[in-house]
Amino acid sequence: MTNDAQGVLVIYTGGTIGSLPEDPQDPLSPLVPKKLDEVMSRLPNYDAANSRITLAGSWVRLATHSWETPVDSSNMTFGDWQSLATLIEANYDSYEGFVVLHGTDTLAYTASALAFMLDNLGKPVVLTGSQRPIAETRSDAVQNFVTAIEIAAAKSLGGVVVPEVCVFFRDHLLRGCRTTKLSANAYGAFSSPNYPYFGHAGEHIRILETLLRPLPDGPLRVRHELESNIASLDIFPGMSTALLRNILTTRGLKGLVMQAFGIGNAPTTPEFLDAIADAVEDGKVILDITQCRSGEVDLGLYEVSAGLLARGVISGLDLTPEAALTKLAFVLGQEPDADRAADMLQIDLKGEQSKSIFNIHFPGGEVAGEGEAPVSTNQATPMVEGRRYDPTKLQKALLRVMGLKTLDGSAGKITLRAFLDLPEAGQHPPAEAPHFLGEGSKMYHPAGGPESIFFEIDDAARQFVSGSSSHALTIVSLAEPMRWAKANIALVVAAS
Ligand code: ASP
Repeated sequence: MTNDAQGVLVIYTGGTIGSLPEDPQDPLSPLVPKKLDEVMSRLPNYDAANSRITLAGSWVRLATHSWETPVDSSNMTFGDWQSLATLIEANYDSYEGFVVLHGTDTLAYTASALAFMLDNLGKPVVLTGSQRPIAETRSDAVQNFVTAIEIAAAKSLGGVVVPEVCVFFRDHLLRGCRTTKLSANAYGAFSSPNYPYFGHAGEHIRILETLLRPLPDGPLRVRHELESNIASLDIFPGMSTALLRNILTTRGLKGLVMQAFGIGNAPTTPEFLDAIADAVEDGKVILDITQCRSGEVDLGLYEVSAGLLARGVISGLDLTPEAALTKLAFVLGQEPDADRAADMLQIDLKGEQSKSIFNIHFPGGEVAGEGEAPVSTNQATPMVEGRRYDPTKLQKALLRVMGLKTLDGSAGKITLRAFLDLPEAGQHPPAEAPHFLGEGSKMYHPAGGPESIFFEIDDAARQFVSGSSSHALTIVSLAEPMRWAKANIALVVAAS
């Protein structure tokens, strides 16, 4: 049944594409979304009586479904995303593709949410809309709508089937969970700053197949659960810490997307960092993304982000704000445990980020004196639902030892050496590969709070790190007796 399905289901939610002035006598009165008929009556070569459209010399079955009350997309809710996913699920076997007509303002959020919710998607779900209503003479709607239908009907028309939630707008086809609204006015309103456009529509529609996700090997599975107790905060220079604390202590809050500076940097004042630390301690997940339009977060590269990492903030890498927010809602919807959700958030789920970070967690420990070598063995490596760690894609491995203090709490120098899987917990293991991971040093001042030591594990040693088996971490102190709260090895892997 699934493979034989033909035709496209158009789902109309509202937005400018179907809007007209509220007062028909006054063309300048505010635009409000009208009924789906307003849109369909202006679609060229559409035969409403027979539910079909003539496209590229053939006809394609075209069915429609409208939101009971079409909305401006500023009014879309998590419930609307769930309704859309449910509607696609209910009609999945009956159509070869889906077109969602949507207001442009929050279209990228809906596209991102659907990408996460529709697991094992094997058919095109194409979102589009327009900057000017379809009823206007100089509208961009017809072009966007017709091309979206053609992409969704690729199987009937002999084109390339895009098994993804995607956005078609003006000339380009973009991955849904990579899309962001870039312009409030331009006809080319959307961009995919960290992933190439995978389709171009000029005289012909060209799809770059190598950029698409592979066809799934299982049936569609819709994951409806979303956590709505989340927030997003754009930090700014001089932001009051009280504001941050107020947001983070909002009753019921489960997670926050923090839109930080540059590669994920934020103020380093003790008040700022304490507010973050308290929230993480309280079980909140804080996902750090960049407020730059493109590029990626690299937590720990600068001092101004190392403190965030040490306090449990996790890296959103190159997620768009839309993907970050919806991924947070989605992951917390599936996984209420904050630590496990944090691990899952760092792994690429639907092509939304260019890398994954697999963490191997080690508990804390202490070293009473120079040369003593306590060994702590890790818990299981996180393996998120079939997303197995692939060592051939390993780009770098980092050791992070966090929450470091001198044992008596006084100021002093902390110097440590780290080893992995020593054959025996010897007193003075040799500082050489493959067991030797590296050495690091920090000055500890009680007023500055706990310290962290991060270093990259070199090639020889990282071959030794496996994403799937159990590891033992040995830490040796070369200076003051000291303790650490936790450690992890972060395996940074190119997403497939
Ligand atoms: N306010 C409209 C909406 O998002 C804008 C648009 O569709 O272009 O519904």
